[in-house]
Amino acid sequence: MIDFDCGKLCAPKNNGIPFCCDNESIVPVLFREEFNLRRKDGKFWEKVPVRNESIRKMIEESASYYVFSMCPVPTDCRRSRRSLNCMTFPFEPHVSRSGKVPGLVYTNNGKDGCPLMKKSRRIFNPVYIANSIVFWEELFDLYPEEKELYIHESVKRERRLKRQGKKIRIFTP
Ligand code: SF4
Ligand code: SF4
Repeated sequence: MIDFDCGKLCAPKNNGIPFCCDNESIVPVLFREEFNLRRKDGKFWEKVPVRNESIRKMIEESASYYVFSMCPVPTDCRRSRRSLNCMTFPFEPHVSRSGKVPGLVYTNNGKDGCPLMKKSRRIFNPVYIANSIVFWEELFDLYPEEKELYIHESVKRERRLKRQGKKIRIFTP
């Protein structure tokens, strides 16, 4: 994605933990198949314990193929075991009404904690952007529900920016 360790930008302001690795701020979501595959490599990812009503509600109201998970946080991170979520943050796909992915946009989740979103757009590797677009299109073939969800989010984003008189900024290779 970039050619430096961006965790060094945000960790000092978050008790030494990169914002997107802080399970208290962002709960990683793995796809069920991904979770099962990762578990075959050993106990790295664990399901989030249902400690309270709000966690129960979040799980009940989400897609059945999501597994809300926890990792051992950065001190014990293994790059080979990171989730798709870890590798795509802070981006998500912008999806046209016909289901095509013209490019990526910043996710709404984490705007206050991720300093990368305030950096020049030129720091992002175009090959990463191109590969991500292919990845999302292939994922949507496997999970049509995800495609519908992102189409919905993309329409909302376009409407919101239009109301604000702003242009949408999409990352393309
Ligand atoms: S992606 Fe953003 S939040 Fe995550 S480590 Fe890099 S700068 Fe921090
Ligand atoms: S698996 Fe590694 S990169 Fe992903 S959230 Fe955990 S510590 Fe961060």
